[in-house]
Amino acid sequence: MSDAFDAVVVGCGPAGSASARILAQAGAKVVMLDQHAFPRPKLCGGLITWKSIKALSRIFDEDVNSLKKKGVINNSSQKYSIYYRGNLLHTDEVSYPFHFVDRKSLDLELVRKAQASGAVLRTGDKVVKISTAEGWVRTASGKTIQGRYIFGADGANSIIRRSMPLDHKAWLKNLASTIEISIPAQRFPSAPDHPTLYIGYVDAGYCWVFPHAEKIIVGICGLKRSNNNFRSLFIEFLRSLGLAGWKDIAFKGHPLPYGNFLKEPCFQKALLCGDAAGFVEPLLGEGIFYAMTTGRYAAQSVLEGGTDYKAVERFYINRLKKNIYPELVYSSRLRWLLLLNLRYFSRLSFKLFFRTHTHHLAELVHGMRSYRCFLKKEWE
Ligand SMILES: Cc1cc2nc3c(=O)[nH]c(=O)nc-3n(C[C@H](O)[C@H](O)[C@H](O)COP(=O)(O)OP(=O)(O)OC[C@H]3O[C@@H](n4cnc5c(N)ncnc54)[C@H](O)[C@@H]3O)c2cc1C
Repeated sequence: MSDAFDAVVVGCGPAGSASARILAQAGAKVVMLDQHAFPRPKLCGGLITWKSIKALSRIFDEDVNSLKKKGVINNSSQKYSIYYRGNLLHTDEVSYPFHFVDRKSLDLELVRKAQASGAVLRTGDKVVKISTAEGWVRTASGKTIQGRYIFGADGANSIIRRSMPLDHKAWLKNLASTIEISIPAQRFPSAPDHPTLYIGYVDAGYCWVFPHAEKIIVGICGLKRSNNNFRSLFIEFLRSLGLAGWKDIAFKGHPLPYGNFLKEPCFQKALLCGDAAGFVEPLLGEGIFYAMTTGRYAAQSVLEGGTDYKAVERFYINRLKKNIYPELVYSSRLRWLLLLNLRYFSRLSFKLFFRTHTHHLAELVHGMRSYRCFLKKEWE
């Protein structure tokens, strides 16, 4: 059995749904494939920024009110704090709030939007083989699906990326480990009401406590190569929070691209977007926005280039160069600058940075400013 589409989108996270929706809206014949049936769980802190809300509005016609009504946004906070271990370094109120989404509901909603635009959804069947040259994927149940283009939106462990001739060692070098748990608020000595980041527990990474409506998400991320025994670092962090009853909660982990974004995310008939190409901001690990935006850019490039594969690649890379790479390159530089300061000077250098860049910091994270020289930023 084999059937044919203009585009086969592998993976139905934010990157896959964004690309499928843009393509289907333009009349392309699109199929979306995922190994899981939706709604499916996704390990994630669920923090979304101003630029993510803009992207949700632009691609999916959703805004804060509609997402709140649907229960996708479950909490918001204008305040945030940053600690060095137990010591408060910085706290501030920002003009635009951070929102918290449940990924199960967000991803389901975005998949539905792509379907409503005409994309065909097939779930519960894993892609196990791919030909980038001939443009087909084969699933675990033995189905072969043909596409003029194959979109690799299948996350950090992407099978589409692994089938491309890339430097896989370089990919692993900047891959982070994460662990996350979700805890009822009453188990905290005093339940946090705003997002809090902690540095100093892990090298080249950080820990977080994010307040959702009915639970608190606590997590850790750090470069694999810089940290041994990641689990015990996380336990040390949980103990420092004075939490009760975390031992009965199973730890879950997932790799996070953390500075290993690809400069050449296209090969033959395949294009990578989102985590599959490492498009995650390397300072804070923000990925939902980059997934939706690179999914959109890849789809727009296919619509412009038609069957001219080289032109499609050029259009996609030009968009990435203009809008995405500068953010990823400069936030990575800022990360190393802050980390080296912490290593060789003290946490006071962080304190000084936060004090002198208070407003810049929030605007950088929200995407109102670029990480490149902190200049005002307009997203295309
Ligand atoms: C612990 C943790 C916390 C995070 N917190 C935040 C946060 O607070 N804010 C933020 O912006 N980002 C956060 N991120 C990053 C964010 O989750 C990702 O960047 C984002 O989900 C990437 O979207 P995507 O569509 O590229 O991939 P994914 O969301 O990973 O979706 C990939 C999809 O592909 C499917 N798939 C994979 N392989 C196959 C296959 N072989 N066949 C068929 N289907 C397949 C999967 O089932 C999945 O549905 C966090 C990440 C982690 C790990």
